Amino acid sequence: MARDHTKCPVCENDLSRGLTSWHLVCTVCLYESAILTPHINVESVHASVDEVSRESGLKTLRISNFERLLNKIRQLKGDGALLEIGCAHGWFLEKAQSAFDVFGVEPDQSIYAGVQGKGLNVRLGYFPEVLEPGEVFDVIVFNDVLEHIPDVNRVLDACRRHMADKGILVINLPNSRGVFYRISKLLCKLSVPSFFERLWQKGLPSPHVHYFDSSNLARILRVHDFVIRAGGRLSTVEASSLYDRVAYAGSGSVVRDLLVCVGIIGLLPLQSILPSDIVYLIAEKN
Ligand SMILES: [Zn+2]
Repeated sequence: MARDHTKCPVCENDLSRGLTSWHLVCTVCLYESAILTPHINVESVHASVDEVSRESGLKTLRISNFERLLNKIRQLKGDGALLEIGCAHGWFLEKAQSAFDVFGVEPDQSIYAGVQGKGLNVRLGYFPEVLEPGEVFDVIVFNDVLEHIPDVNRVLDACRRHMADKGILVINLPNSRGVFYRISKLLCKLSVPSFFERLWQKGLPSPHVHYFDSSNLARILRVHDFVIRAGGRLSTVEASSLYDRVAYAGSGSVVRDLLVCVGIIGLLPLQSILPSDIVYLIAEKN
């Protein structure tokens, strides 16, 4: 899937060189891009990732964020058919199935194999090719997924096609205005690029290829004729699971990982007043 690395996918202005050889920025709408290649379903890359650490590290935080998000969704759409793109371990679908007829798609074979035993309706493959042309949903959800998909405009077009009238699109993703991301950029400028590389998930099977903020994300949704109906922020870190998360993509040095944790915990009280590192938008098909 070729991606144009010269033009901003939001506002079509020329992208400029960012902080590293693989990082690009749009100076007009502040969208950021990375020339990093996904390697989903490649065994050698998977071997470097500790899936158990990843799962326990993220679960508590994700579940509480999903509950908040579902409350927001249900204020706009109380029931119907819900599709989650990139449903991973099925945690969101398990929460959503009390209100919605849930369906998930997941491209990673090993993660798909794990979710199959949960009794959820999940299909292996990439959106939109994995769907039949006539399959239509009332709600389509991307939980920390859109930032991994190279051709974001093509995927948003497909969301419209597979969405009922007045359907709801739900997107949450890392925020380029978030405090940790901004600190990582500062450290990168000071010749400490490891935290910046980690937030882009450089070297992992599915790195981030975009960084949006709430205003350029809203802008690209409006380009695809969606109307923004709600938005906000989600929690980024919980002290109890932090070490697992840092160690998951870790430096291999316990001491350095612990130092990163201590630094982040020191910032936790500031979370409520500083820009959150995860933002969400809920938009309606016009
Ligand atoms: Zn732009």
